[in-house]
Amino acid sequence: MKLALIGIGQAGGKVVDALVDYERQAKTGFVVDAIAVNTARADLRGLRNVPESRQVLVGLTRVKGHGVGADNELGAEVTAEDVGDVLSMVDDLPVHEIDAFLVVAGLGGGTGSGGAPVVARELKHIYTEPVYGLGILPARDEGGIYTLNAARSLQTFVREVDNLIVFDNDAWRKTGESLEAGYGSLNAELARRLGVLFSAGEGDGSGAVAESVVDASEIINTLGSGGISTIGYAAVELDRPKRGLFSRLSGGKADAEDGGDSTNRITSLVRRAALGRLTMPCEIAGAERGLVVVAGPSDVLSRRGIERARTWLEDETGTMEIRGGDYPVGSNFVAAVVLLSGVYDVPRVKELQAVAIETQRDMLAKRESSAASLDDLISTGDDHIDPLF
Ligand code: GDP
Repeated sequence: MKLALIGIGQAGGKVVDALVDYERQAKTGFVVDAIAVNTARADLRGLRNVPESRQVLVGLTRVKGHGVGADNELGAEVTAEDVGDVLSMVDDLPVHEIDAFLVVAGLGGGTGSGGAPVVARELKHIYTEPVYGLGILPARDEGGIYTLNAARSLQTFVREVDNLIVFDNDAWRKTGESLEAGYGSLNAELARRLGVLFSAGEGDGSGAVAESVVDASEIINTLGSGGISTIGYAAVELDRPKRGLFSRLSGGKADAEDGGDSTNRITSLVRRAALGRLTMPCEIAGAERGLVVVAGPSDVLSRRGIERARTWLEDETGTMEIRGGDYPVGSNFVAAVVLLSGVYDVPRVKELQAVAIETQRDMLAKRESSAASLDDLISTGDDHIDPLF
């Protein structure tokens, strides 16, 4: 599936950077173009894989290239004012070659949180291609303002996109890692999941042919129009020397030759992917739609395994709308990606909203009382002091 990536804000830019990095290594060609948008010049300079010619600095007259300081209303405003600059960069790319847009942002900050829904709305207005969002939730310990930003952005962003894939930093952070190193490995994990999913159907340049290919329309139909998605992933290294190109191309013998090992490997991988750590933890029962992609050397991509895994996922989720297919790659790993779309039982979103409501109430109360408190502080009562002017 061919995508145009648009990263907004620091997290958005870095995740797009990681996706381009993944794509360059895997050589699957799923990224047609990558654009980074920011209000902070320094954040754009930090990107390695999005060249300056594909970067847009918005809000320059208002914030002078220094960012919006986690003010997502300001992020939305300045992005809306300069959205023409973003759209003219999109206009340069061969839109007829892409299957969809993916707008990426961290929802807890200012620029991405406010700007991503604005850019998504404009893209949907102009183009007929689907516009998907990738929204990153802040970790719990980032505090009330980040949580409030994320809750406000989430409800706006989900309304403006065809589907919002969610990644929860809280479920993924590791203790004992510096923030930067931590984000680096989180972004690589996220890029791998999205990379395998969106590369399906694009091939890996080896010429291997899929038995039951996952094409762009299957991903688009799984994402559907509206709602929230989450992605699971599991991989295993094959216990054998890496084979040459010939065996990769021969393919399709998995069920006949290995006495069911390939079938079992795939069913257990898909279970691990769906029941393990999802990009956003949720109850998978009740999901509306699902897609299973199994990637690996074609001689171990058991069709029967994928069929069984699909049936298992139908039972677990309670929906019949589970698609599935394989994605042959020249690798010594077999990986399963499970995309679950239309998930509604998400405790983390409810928790985020509860903290956001409390934060909003607290901020309003403080704002109201602070005017009176300042009067109290400055006032000298009956002993009048004359102001200067
Ligand atoms: P913005 O530049 O104003 O949009 O704000 P940031 O993108 O810096 O931060 C928004 C939120 O994104 C933060 O609260 C973090 O939760 C998260 N974040 C920042 N950088 C990264 C990153 O590289 N990876 C991930 N996964 N999350 C990030």
